Amino acid sequence: MAAGSGHRIDRDELLARVELTDVLDALSPGRAERGGRRAWRCIDPDHPDVHPSVKVSIDRTGTQRWRCWSGGHGGTAIDAVMVARSMTVADAIRWLNDNYARLDVIERHAPPPAQPIGRPDPEVVTYVQRAHRLLWTPAGQPMRDWLHRRGLDDDVLRTNLVGADPGRRFLPRPKGLPGGLPAVVYPALDKDRRPVYFQARFLDPLNGRSKYDNPARRWASNPRLAWIEPPAALERDALVVTEGIADGLIAAQSGFGAVGVLGSQYPDERVGDAIVQNADGRKVIICFDADDAGRQGTERLADLIEQRNLGRPDVVEPPTGMDLTDWANQDPNWADLIDPPLNPKLPRQQPEPVGDLGLSLHLPE
Ligand SMILES: [Zn+2]
Repeated sequence: MAAGSGHRIDRDELLARVELTDVLDALSPGRAERGGRRAWRCIDPDHPDVHPSVKVSIDRTGTQRWRCWSGGHGGTAIDAVMVARSMTVADAIRWLNDNYARLDVIERHAPPPAQPIGRPDPEVVTYVQRAHRLLWTPAGQPMRDWLHRRGLDDDVLRTNLVGADPGRRFLPRPKGLPGGLPAVVYPALDKDRRPVYFQARFLDPLNGRSKYDNPARRWASNPRLAWIEPPAALERDALVVTEGIADGLIAAQSGFGAVGVLGSQYPDERVGDAIVQNADGRKVIICFDADDAGRQGTERLADLIEQRNLGRPDVVEPPTGMDLTDWANQDPNWADLIDPPLNPKLPRQQPEPVGDLGLSLHLPE
């Protein structure tokens, strides 16, 4: 029986916990003892029951029931609250739970235990490794093409174990891993380059469904951070923090160390700790999406980093409405704009601050 806002309280468990005589004591205008049995004046406000007519018995299922012998009505504790307080079933259940039972809201099926963060089931590692091999086969061609269209080159895909999931025929997997629609596989690697989690990005998401799927928690827990490395020759002395793995790959391709935040709107203390501990003396640059969610996440994360005495990180915002991938595809100089190149022979443009969030952008008209 639903008790509002999608939560469920088990009716039988509630009735088993509630002492009906306590409920009648609270709801009835008066009571008496008759021949060793307690009786209550009727709890129905429309029944002026001078001589207490309500008695309690236990039915065949073990449930306590009340009956008004004068008015002919009765029922469980839930019915008593509905009659006495003119409540709906759902409200009566909630009232009883709040006042008499205090049951935890029930999850109908207790979920299997989650894997500890950073310690995925070996199935997850196997899936990521096989998907990475499949990316370079004919079956992975649609995913490779899709990634190339997003502006990603093979070097950065290899360095970061990006993969292709062409479906179950090529890549068998247990229940609780993504269902088998064609997808790009973005692994979340830890600082030691081990896959600890992944996100599957469907090439053609089903109507109204998410573009992404993740392993169930019994296979791997979300580490909140995915560490992304540039192909070796292109190091820059900055760590770019991005929304998600895809944008992090774009940053890595331009020579940045990058870290993708999974769930970037609500970075927590652990995310702040990990970024500060692994900045390794590099400048930290946050580059989240140019929308309200991205700005909120940016503020939270900048505060978390500043509180850890690393100084306020640089904040760079793509042009309005864009993410880093859009921006990089529109402006090949984006990386030099946010971080002047180490190699002085490369062209550089001077950023001009605008507002408190960043840079003037040199965009095509
Ligand atoms: Zn009555």
